[in-house]
Amino acid sequence: MSHPLLMIPGPVELSAAVCAAAAEPPLSHTSPPFIARFAGALRAMRTLWRVGLEHQPFIVAGSGTLAMEMAVANTLEPGQRAIVADTGYFSRRMAEILARRSVSVQRVGGRLLEGGMPAVSPQALIEAIERADGPVHAVFITHVDTSTGVRCDVRALAAAVRAVSSEVIIVVDGVCSVGGEVLDQEGWDLDVVLTASQKALSAPPGLALLVASPRVFAARERLTVPPPLLFDLLSWLPVHQSYEKGRPAYFATPATSLVSALHTSLEEIISEGIDLAVARHARSAEAMRRAWSVLGLRLVAEQESCAANTLSALWLPEGVDGTFPAKVAARGVTVAGGLHPELLLKGPYLRVGHLGWVTSQPERLLHTVRAVGDALIDSGTPVDPDAAVAAASAVLNLS
Ligand code: PMP
Repeated sequence: MSHPLLMIPGPVELSAAVCAAAAEPPLSHTSPPFIARFAGALRAMRTLWRVGLEHQPFIVAGSGTLAMEMAVANTLEPGQRAIVADTGYFSRRMAEILARRSVSVQRVGGRLLEGGMPAVSPQALIEAIERADGPVHAVFITHVDTSTGVRCDVRALAAAVRAVSSEVIIVVDGVCSVGGEVLDQEGWDLDVVLTASQKALSAPPGLALLVASPRVFAARERLTVPPPLLFDLLSWLPVHQSYEKGRPAYFATPATSLVSALHTSLEEIISEGIDLAVARHARSAEAMRRAWSVLGLRLVAEQESCAANTLSALWLPEGVDGTFPAKVAARGVTVAGGLHPELLLKGPYLRVGHLGWVTSQPERLLHTVRAVGDALIDSGTPVDPDAAVAAASAVLNLS
């Protein structure tokens, strides 16, 4: 491989076609080829998010945090109340964004248990809604929190919320899930599902993506304190509607090279089929978990049933310190260290991404397993990397 293998939970490895699209000379945002790509990307989002024409996809230059800000600024105003299902660092970021808009925020969950970090249960969420001091306007769920590798059961959480209210806005941070986990925005009645280009969609970093339901536009129309102009969905709506119909429009210059790369990556996913792409993530995750178990690495997630398919967050063994990712990097593979301050108080941990296009490249997954195994030996932990690679290969049907 000509570059270090990028196995952090985003940005991720890209296909050659996506790299080539990103490297083309930039297009004018009003040129027919760009209009076709922008429109194609928006249409592909409807397929991947599983929404029809009543929902509106948006692609805006920025990172996932911009999409989080937009979700908050367009649905809530100061003094309203929201609940955040807390499964890690990114749930807490959402709570911080809400607090800065002077929304009254309550976090549910987020406590590390003896067995690891749990997902938030539907019962806990409903109790929080029922015990709140007044009406709850919105619920925020991080589908996969990238700091803990914990996946919430969004379908069950949304169903529980809908059983008590058809009005509450449900926002899902899908930054580490869209394209890699089962998700059905319209079927599960979710109002915002947001992500970023650099994760399971396998495009370069730099684009914030979200799909908004009709409930979001109704909430936006009711706001007495409008969002900043750049964050306002109503600034972007006519532009997106126009591009999807094949006509250029202007509010702020789109990131034409990134949109071209995103269009290529979304077309790759659509041509494979979203169900197959998600199944590929499940199989890769299973292979990696088998390998981690052989290497004696324990998941941060409390149970395997709430462990994400897009990354593994793993406690490092006794005696191995936070310099471990550098030891893996010395073997040509870039992995990430821990991120959640409360978890880091307990000890160093490791995060390995297995999301996006790279999950169609089994040899890169196995190379990652070997690099982690060899680095453990380097750190004085006697493990058997061959056995770990064999365990992963068996799941990937390579042995
Ligand atoms: N939410 C989750 C679950 C994430 O993993 C990330 C990024 N790692 C973000 C939000 C923020 O996205 P960005 O870094 O692109 O702003």
